[in-house]
Amino acid sequence: MPSSGAQPESLETLLAALERLPGIGPRSASRLAHHLLRIPESDALALADAIRTARARIKPCSLCRAPAEADPCPLCSDTTRDRSLVLVVETPRDLQAIEAAGIYRGCYFVLGARLSPLEGVDEQALGLGALAQRALAPDVVEVCIGTNPDLEGDGTALALVAALQACRGEDTEHPLGALRVTRLARGLPTGGQIEHQNASAIADAFEGRRPSV
Ligand SMILES: [Zn+2]
Repeated sequence: MPSSGAQPESLETLLAALERLPGIGPRSASRLAHHLLRIPESDALALADAIRTARARIKPCSLCRAPAEADPCPLCSDTTRDRSLVLVVETPRDLQAIEAAGIYRGCYFVLGARLSPLEGVDEQALGLGALAQRALAPDVVEVCIGTNPDLEGDGTALALVAALQACRGEDTEHPLGALRVTRLARGLPTGGQIEHQNASAIADAFEGRRPSV
């Protein structure tokens, strides 16, 4: 679209690029663009350099598909982690949140997407073949599905279970026998109050109830 002349063409280009970022509308784009024009030029260019460097250095790890500068990534190379357990998460942000909690010591597989027919994300886009490949590794005993507890996350989990069972569900030839496929528990959040939970969280909590110690 040709510039209206009200703003310099290069500013229009910057605004258009910023507006393509998630969660950035025209007003935020305008605020960011004018901020970048106001700060010292070296600071603005440092941002451009950081983007260029990150894009050049960071690639998905060939084992877990998390973004990393080394392949395998530091998590997959860490020999103290439990290689028999693979947790499947939707995004690298989910991985970071679980790592920040500091209680999980297994490995990961990052889907990078979730089934969303409306947005054109089908089973092929999920990379189920790569997950099946990961599940066939000789040291993997259990794959735990950690997709989000919502409609698309549940649909994604169903597709993952089917793919995993197809690849090693009944595989008694595998040195470790049949693959154990599990899902993260769901239900009442710790620190929450029952009176403030919605019906589906309460239903999930009943379904996932377990013997008291
Ligand atoms: Zn990795």
